[in-house]
Amino acid sequence: MKAATAESDMALEEYKRKRDFQKTPEPSPGRVLASAEKLSYLIQKHDATRLHYDFRLELDGVLLSWAVTKGPSLDPADKRLAVRTEDHPLSYGAFEGTIPKGQYGGGTVMLWDQGSWEPKGDPHAGLKKGHLSFILHGKRLKGGWNLIRMRGNEKRENWLLIKEKDADARLDGTDPDFLEDLSSSVKSGRSMDEIAGGAAPAQTK
Ligand code: MN
Repeated sequence: MKAATAESDMALEEYKRKRDFQKTPEPSPGRVLASAEKLSYLIQKHDATRLHYDFRLELDGVLLSWAVTKGPSLDPADKRLAVRTEDHPLSYGAFEGTIPKGQYGGGTVMLWDQGSWEPKGDPHAGLKKGHLSFILHGKRLKGGWNLIRMRGNEKRENWLLIKEKDADARLDGTDPDFLEDLSSSVKSGRSMDEIAGGAAPAQTK
């Protein structure tokens, strides 16, 4: 993988504009080299105004991001709305903690899954076309997945996150409580309440 480029600095402008790094423990977007081999993948469960799951895929030195309101489903019949949000810095992938009230995205953030992803085919072409097909190597999500952009809406990009029919899928709602059963942090084992109750991690530069 190549190092972060001027292009990815541009991609993080919106991320910077929305946040006050004196007030939020979230990482400020320093220049970070892209990981050496594997492209990182992660999900952060985010108890903001409305609970959602932030789905992030590393590409070109940033984390492409989608907010999945209902969270992922292992049933290929479920199409989960995934609203594209601003690119995040790679360093965001390690963030777990509480964004203060009144700040952008105020609320608790839990690292819900982490690992790597493998695009099937050229991910740049897929992004442009509005169909990303990929394999997840997470601790909780595995196997084939698709993100498909819907037509319409100019204000926001609505995509659908869909599990592929493979050995990692759960057909016909055979695992309906999957999200509830996996309610602790994949990183620290803490519940949302435990993360919320803890002190915000110290800001390191
Ligand atoms: Mn979020």
